[in-house]
Amino acid sequence: EPATGGSPRLRAALDGLPAYVPGRAGAATGRTFKLSSNENPYPPLPGVLETAVAAAGALNRYPDLASSALIAELAEHLAVPADHLAVGTGSVGVAQQLVQATAGPGDEVIYAWRSFEAYPIVVQISGARSVRVPLTADEEHDLPAMAEAISDRTRLIFLCSPNNPTGPALRRDALLDFLDRVPSDVLVVLDEAYREFIRDPEVPDGVEIYRDRPNVCVLRTFSKAYGLAGLRVGYAVAHPPVAAALRKTAVPFGVSQIAQDAAIASLRARDALLERVESLVAERTRVAEALRAQGWKVADSQANFVWLRLGEATADFAARCEASGVTVRPFAGEGVRVTVAEPEANDLVLAVAEQFLGERA
Ligand code: PMP
Repeated sequence: EPATGGSPRLRAALDGLPAYVPGRAGAATGRTFKLSSNENPYPPLPGVLETAVAAAGALNRYPDLASSALIAELAEHLAVPADHLAVGTGSVGVAQQLVQATAGPGDEVIYAWRSFEAYPIVVQISGARSVRVPLTADEEHDLPAMAEAISDRTRLIFLCSPNNPTGPALRRDALLDFLDRVPSDVLVVLDEAYREFIRDPEVPDGVEIYRDRPNVCVLRTFSKAYGLAGLRVGYAVAHPPVAAALRKTAVPFGVSQIAQDAAIASLRARDALLERVESLVAERTRVAEALRAQGWKVADSQANFVWLRLGEATADFAARCEASGVTVRPFAGEGVRVTVAEPEANDLVLAVAEQFLGERA
């Protein structure tokens, strides 16, 4: 006799799994700034918007399953073969596909902690076990400790460069030493969501690193520098077996035609978009230097955010920002991540930071 009134049996891997918590949007009244999700503060370029609207005219049709036009454009832009590319629903979607393709119950996935909050979620959903390696005192990946953490069960290692939420990126020599220590059957995912904001010449381009390393995959996105977070399009650059696995683990038709076409238009408009990035990088430098001048210890950020380690004062600082019209991202008991945006917003943060330290001096 069929059971009635019960709930469907759910996988034990989901027990205790918290849902992803997005950056808060802030109060709806007055002039407020959302600096809680590392978004690009600038709206789409008119030409990109026109392309998106034109694509919307065919919403009765499924999108191109293979994202062929976008992949062709990316292949040319990055100088990689088309079969080394896979597109997905944001780089977080591609990250989940990579875990699904490599790890399951009994396996281990290594990543630094604190790092991008989606890693523990996608690992837990897969049934694999997370191995978290604490950051160094300088808020950087502890690559020697991560190499020590590799076991026979390791299937994937996330490297987040620049690291969300702390900011530092991996430098060439340390990264290459680390990669030399990783067994060739373990996939290393170099998450470069903030690639375009990097200015440290010692930080290598992941696309150069992956070329002669079949176990390295680079993750990129249109959400940050290209300002298309709302459209959900990211991609991986990987050797053909990994790229093929990504085609198998993709949700069919997950990337809309609007997203594909807007991404192509953004690549074609990249000079204008990278000018905006340049101004955000200049603001990052200004904000970091002003904070240091105020007396804050600020790790070197190569991304579009800065990290303030506040410990027990985290919630208090976030509330002060909120009261000033700025929503930031608190990590309870650890610190606050503040997206670098337009100067007016950054100035509000600097004013809160100065007053905050002043009161505690
Ligand atoms: N990787 C990192 C390090 C991120 O910070 C983010 C966005 N917060 C992502 C990936 C995901 O971005 P998206 O899914 O929008 O491409």
